[in-house]
Amino acid sequence: MSRHKGLFICFIGIDGSGKTTQARALDLALKEDGIRSRYVWNRFEPGLTRPLVAVGRKLFLRRKDIYRDYDGYFATKRRLFGNRFLSSSYRCLLWLDCLYQTTLKIGLPLARGETVICDRYLYDTVADIAVESSYSEAQVRTAVYRYLTLMPRPDLMFLIDLPEETAFRRKTDIPAIDYLARRRQAYLYMSREKEMVLLDGTSSPDEIKKVVMSKVKELCQAR
Ligand code: ADP
Repeated sequence: MSRHKGLFICFIGIDGSGKTTQARALDLALKEDGIRSRYVWNRFEPGLTRPLVAVGRKLFLRRKDIYRDYDGYFATKRRLFGNRFLSSSYRCLLWLDCLYQTTLKIGLPLARGETVICDRYLYDTVADIAVESSYSEAQVRTAVYRYLTLMPRPDLMFLIDLPEETAFRRKTDIPAIDYLARRRQAYLYMSREKEMVLLDGTSSPDEIKKVVMSKVKELCQAR
């Protein structure tokens, strides 16, 4: 049961999966139908976490280049996240940043009755944390549950899944295939939640859009 008037629909998945393509297409289709819809690019932006991230980069990651040596970069980051104090402080500030950004970008438009089409949501942030902290499936689920505290719950969530090799070929700014492979695993853990709609990212954009539109139609009829 939704607690807001407008619909809240999210697209999540690895880079290159087609989230922006589908989110923009849905936003346009809803607008053409006369629905007050808003596309929101919701990649996490550091706020309170910024000083901690800056210090961490300067002290530990200064000589690491994610594009030239992804394995070395990843190993250092994982060691940092192995420090319980650092990782708990970081996660706590991260949640506050997410809460602030989510309230502004998503909570307010929803409260005004707009439909929000979100390109990335908290699940994507959890996927990043899961990779850096080597979470198991149970830990990923617990993190999702905790991070959603006080955040709007999506009415519909689409996870676009595809082989990491295919996604890697679609973009030029992805550090490494492993970067995608590790995140894909975290998303697949989340996809076992019953309310998530799994889309085949290897289908054509039009085919995916057809499935999206039919799910949105079903949701509108059910409300
Ligand atoms: P994301 O937002 O998930 O990073 P994008 O929507 O930006 O992905 O898509 C990345 C690239 O892949 C773009 O060039 C886009 O045109 C292309 N693309 C998106 N969806 C598909 C698809 N289903 N099949 C083939 N190419 C796609």
